[in-house]
Amino acid sequence: MSASPLHSSLSSPDNPPPDSIPSMLKTLYFLSIELGRIQDFDELLYQAIVRGRHDLGIDRIGIFLVSEDGQTYQGVYGTNKHGVVHDARASRGKIADDSFFTALFNTTERVAYRLNAPLYDFGEQVGVGWNTLTAMWHGDQIFGIFAADNLLNGAPLTPMILEVLNLYGAMLGHLIARLRTEQALRINEENSRRFGHNLRRLHEVTMQLSLLDDLNDLYRQAIILGRSQLGFDRMGLFLMDEITNGIVGTFGTNPQGEISDLRNYRLPIAQHAGVSEMLANRKYAEIWPDITLFEAGVPVGTGWNAIAILWDGDRSIGWLACDNLIRQDAYTPHILELLTLYGTTLGHLITRRRAEIARGEMALEREKLQMMSTFVANISHDLKTPLAVLRNSLYLIDHSTDVTKNKQRMGVMQSQIDHLDRLIQDLLLISRLEYSLTLETAEVNLNSLIERAIQAILPSAEGKHIHLEAKLDPQLPPVRGAEHELYRAIVNLIENAVNYTPDNGTIEMKSYADTDTVHFKISDTGIGISRQDLTHIFDRYYRGETARDIVHTGTGLGLSIVKRVIELHQGEIEVNSEMGTGTTFQIMLPCAVNPV
Ligand code: ADP
Repeated sequence: MSASPLHSSLSSPDNPPPDSIPSMLKTLYFLSIELGRIQDFDELLYQAIVRGRHDLGIDRIGIFLVSEDGQTYQGVYGTNKHGVVHDARASRGKIADDSFFTALFNTTERVAYRLNAPLYDFGEQVGVGWNTLTAMWHGDQIFGIFAADNLLNGAPLTPMILEVLNLYGAMLGHLIARLRTEQALRINEENSRRFGHNLRRLHEVTMQLSLLDDLNDLYRQAIILGRSQLGFDRMGLFLMDEITNGIVGTFGTNPQGEISDLRNYRLPIAQHAGVSEMLANRKYAEIWPDITLFEAGVPVGTGWNAIAILWDGDRSIGWLACDNLIRQDAYTPHILELLTLYGTTLGHLITRRRAEIARGEMALEREKLQMMSTFVANISHDLKTPLAVLRNSLYLIDHSTDVTKNKQRMGVMQSQIDHLDRLIQDLLLISRLEYSLTLETAEVNLNSLIERAIQAILPSAEGKHIHLEAKLDPQLPPVRGAEHELYRAIVNLIENAVNYTPDNGTIEMKSYADTDTVHFKISDTGIGISRQDLTHIFDRYYRGETARDIVHTGTGLGLSIVKRVIELHQGEIEVNSEMGTGTTFQIMLPCAVNPV
């Protein structure tokens, strides 16, 4: 390195080198003030040589730094044979290999010197003369060596020069130590500032995570936000599985920095010695400074690895891990502090969400039980009425010889049996639909279902002289669906139209398709549905006020079946009605997409 403009920023007094102890002390005093103003470590060492030569009249100077363990030295700046200060970083070695260095370490004197010694320039001997080594002390540790010789001016080694070297070495030791401490403080301040900033971020991240309902979303986002908002490099979240006494992975980060799904990763806790020990000692967090790093149990590199346990009271629910595999950033204690805080926060969020889910499931269970008992009560009622009619008719038949009346009674019995049959079919279907999340499907042509349904209902329509019209699109694309259930839905709609349309009315049916949807539309000229009834007609057991007077055998289950079937097909149902004019129901189902 050559002298940069930075290096010449110090003004140099034009005083001649000191020739007496008082003037030397004075010069040292001013020099310590000027060098003390330098903030840059490198610049301080450079100026220590320049000013030591110029102000104190020392001939050639070189400075070496000693490693913390005192084993090795490393040159910083030196003076060449022409008196030019130069970069000396290439000069390095073991203290033990250099007898002169070793002598300095072993002497109680602060300066070691040799007379008539070989003098060097870049490893080449360039002369003979005295040379000295002065220890730069900090406390009881030598962290630098200040070397001098007389190659250029050939001046003899006097007690005065030895004294100058001794005092200057001590002074530089103090200055360097001070600068290092200041720098360490600055780094600490910077880290504290960053930590404060991250604490604010942690709050924001917690708020975002607390909005997530789904536990898997929470785990996933914990990793994503931990990395993007809190600055962690690679992260992974692992949870305890109390049943197997092992851990289960959730999400992590792969060596490319992408989120990885670790939900199939399992490990018995005993196999993780580090975590086992942390759990036994109830530790919150731990750092391993230099360790093999893993991705789902597979080694992927080395670096530091930190773990924070997620405690819920006395119980650990898992742990949060981070390492520096990707960025290879140096470890700072703040990382562990932030990880611990993040782990604690996550622990609370996970425990809370789990409790909420368990509460929700219990509520759902209660609701199901409630529904079930209402259901049973309704069924009993619905079954009792026709059974009572049947029992009554049987009794009358048994006690009567009137053939005509008995025939009538048998007709009533037949219709009650039909009603019971229908009711049981509806109940079976609705309970099956209720508990199935999906249906077994195939490609179904809606037109053929509509035609079949019309055939089935034709007799009752004809009985009321109702005119049925069907405009079915011959190009209708198929839907993907469960044929039996779709048929029931269509039958229910046509049946209702017939039931709630007075004699001589008209029922129009239409099928058509647009880009991705198949439509079935059925309009009648019936009694219509009141606004009040419209909001309830899809509820189970709901029967319109007027409907009950018109159709005695209705179950109130027809439309709830239709709605559930359409829902299970990812379809939609719409209704438009006007009292006294008629009603239109329309169902929309997604077209079947042919597998390519
Ligand atoms: P149900 O027909 O057995 O009463 P549904 O669930 O099929 O039961 O229908 C619920 C109610 O919706 C009926 O009671 C009736 O009030 C009304 N409704 C359904 N379809 C029509 C229609 N096409 N015209 C008038 N009202 C209807």
